[in-house]
Amino acid sequence: MAAIMDDTQLLRYSRHILLSELGVDAQQRFAESHALIVGIGGLGNPVAQFLAAAGVGALTLVDADRVDLTNLQRQILFDTAAIGRTKVEAAAARIAAVNPEVRVVQHADRVGLDALRELATDADVVVDCTDNFATRHAINRACVAAGKPLVSGAAIRFDGQIAVFDARDPANPCYHCLFGEGDEFEETRCATMGVFAPLVGIIGATQAAEALKLLASAGRSLAGRLLLLDALTMEWRELRILKDPACPVCAAVAR
Ligand SMILES: [Zn+2]
Repeated sequence: MAAIMDDTQLLRYSRHILLSELGVDAQQRFAESHALIVGIGGLGNPVAQFLAAAGVGALTLVDADRVDLTNLQRQILFDTAAIGRTKVEAAAARIAAVNPEVRVVQHADRVGLDALRELATDADVVVDCTDNFATRHAINRACVAAGKPLVSGAAIRFDGQIAVFDARDPANPCYHCLFGEGDEFEETRCATMGVFAPLVGIIGATQAAEALKLLASAGRSLAGRLLLLDALTMEWRELRILKDPACPVCAAVAR
């Protein structure tokens, strides 16, 4: 172990240190880790909050939007006074209040594929909290190119889904193996469809759990599995995701 935690840190993180699956080693790894969170809305809020509270050393937050009144029903990092501020700025302020030890890098702009690739290269885990297919595919490409694990979540109406695409092992499928870009998906977004407030908390907290497990190498990740939640009946389904041997994104990558 390189650095030693002081007494205050041992207390702050004691409930993780008490877990034999985590302990001091995992906590130290969290402190040395960097998570990239793309999208600081309904999903990105709980992801950022849990990773900050758990002591992940650096968080890069990417979102070009500003807080508006319709966000406050479910985006729990933001309060009424934050309306009009950029989401990354408002989130960074709350994170600093929760855990001043966390270094936050703010990107209040739209990032293209090249920028995403650079950001993914600098990160240990990437969490996709966005709400459109074009960005999801760009994030996936960046993660496959950089060889970084991706925790992907989505929430709309009462339906949620979560999966992990771990490009560190080339045998694993990527997001494109599951959702081809040529597929004519009807884009469904919160702005027109509505979203059940606690759903984003359930899915976002699950993404945070997977991100921490990946950083700690604890347990078994959701790599190769897709979880689907119907919050109206509170039923979860699990689907196996197969690697597409002809996938244009991940099949040709040789590492
Ligand atoms: Zn693929």
